[in-house]
Amino acid sequence: MDVSSQAITAREFIKQVGRLTPRRQGNSIPLHRPLLLLWLLGRAASGAPRLVYWREVRPAFEKLAANYGNGADGDAAVYPFWVLHANNRLWEIEDPERLVLTSGGRRPTRASLDAVNPAAGFPQATYDLLVAKPEVIAQAAANLLVRYFNPIPDGLLADLGLLHLIAGHEVEALAPIPGTDLYDDRAAIYEAHGGQRFAGIGPLEDGLTCLFSDEKGPYSDRRIPGTGLIEYRGDGLVGDQRLTGGNSTLYECQRQRVAVRYWHKPHDEPWRFETWAVVVDRRRVWGKGADHKWRREFAWILAPVNSPFRDTWTLQVQELLAEDDGETHDDTAGTEAPAADNPDDARDRYQKFCDSVASRERHNRGRSTRQQSDRYFRSAQARLAVLLRAEGRCENPECTGQPEDLTDKGDPILEVDHVDELAKGGRDHPEAMIALCPNCHAIKTRGKSRHVLRRKLKLEALRRHTKWSAGGTDTPKILAEEASSHEV
Ligand code: ZN
Repeated sequence: MDVSSQAITAREFIKQVGRLTPRRQGNSIPLHRPLLLLWLLGRAASGAPRLVYWREVRPAFEKLAANYGNGADGDAAVYPFWVLHANNRLWEIEDPERLVLTSGGRRPTRASLDAVNPAAGFPQATYDLLVAKPEVIAQAAANLLVRYFNPIPDGLLADLGLLHLIAGHEVEALAPIPGTDLYDDRAAIYEAHGGQRFAGIGPLEDGLTCLFSDEKGPYSDRRIPGTGLIEYRGDGLVGDQRLTGGNSTLYECQRQRVAVRYWHKPHDEPWRFETWAVVVDRRRVWGKGADHKWRREFAWILAPVNSPFRDTWTLQVQELLAEDDGETHDDTAGTEAPAADNPDDARDRYQKFCDSVASRERHNRGRSTRQQSDRYFRSAQARLAVLLRAEGRCENPECTGQPEDLTDKGDPILEVDHVDELAKGGRDHPEAMIALCPNCHAIKTRGKSRHVLRRKLKLEALRRHTKWSAGGTDTPKILAEEASSHEV
């Protein structure tokens, strides 16, 4: 069958490009394959003939490989020249049977390439597509650049003949574009961009990794208040999450500082590709699995970026990356799952959460984004402690009744609140926090009696904390006595 006579669509071509991966050599990844493909795209962009002879490819490519190849060997050109044909079907070599293969049979010898001097090029259908649609060249090139030449080295685009086509348009070339299109469901995204239909973490057919975050669940993803950062819960519905599957994909993105596409679906709204984002921190936190049981989850902290190209990232994002030591920051360390099986257990767990909150309280008193994010996770632990202490009931002693309903995860409808606003010096600790039903929370926030209520809640939080703490020695005695006067 003559492959070159079949029509190829832009999507099929981008999918081929997305599948291209360079071979690894130990820790280094020689970039021969993407580099040769970029060179071919540059030729197509400049209207050069479809076929090019080996004797022309070799010197041109070896020069590129020496400058941009990330570790080229003596036979720099042989390998991609052959592999793009034999493995990837991205281009074709005329009469390849005339070539003598190496003893391993994996590629032709250089001597035989030099002697036969075969012509090679994109299949006719691909070439026709690229000549007719330069935007496909731009998309394919931007895809290779973002994955393998990021930031784009000085001079590369000019040397490839791609300067005019994509310089300054690299991000727009990478369809889909953030914020533009809406999709009713995951199936619609799959129809438009391929990839996979269900997983939370995975690539589209162009090979670039995506995160999918549905506000309805099952994961508790959210924007971290006051920071602009996104908390994305890892892969794995039940039991402690591990660094496998999608989590290991994200781990690689974090390690290599590769941006991902962040997709979001707000309640009762369609899906959208919200923003490019880069992982700036990896934490381990308590969360509830699909079986309603507490387990350790990964909280991936993402910083939104306008473009996946690293040299465009803001100073703030670069600082966050510089502060990332790549380790897992374990917010579950020293604490047990916040499940109250029996009252004594619950007190023990409460105390451990308080200890953990206090031990972190010493650090990070400033206001950098990193510190704000740290404080948020310390608050998360303090919130878990307060929920444990509340035992499912509103902590306002004057509460007239809370909704009997539960959330999908089986939790009571309670909101944990800082009695005094953090911004006004409130302490980020269970002794200054309280669990309230939505009614009491509303009164405390905007009711006429809010000032009186706040004073009462302050004492109540302290009273309960003292009662629940092992010794309660850190509580001023007078306040504890005042608080207990509210007991009926
Ligand atoms: Zn209440």
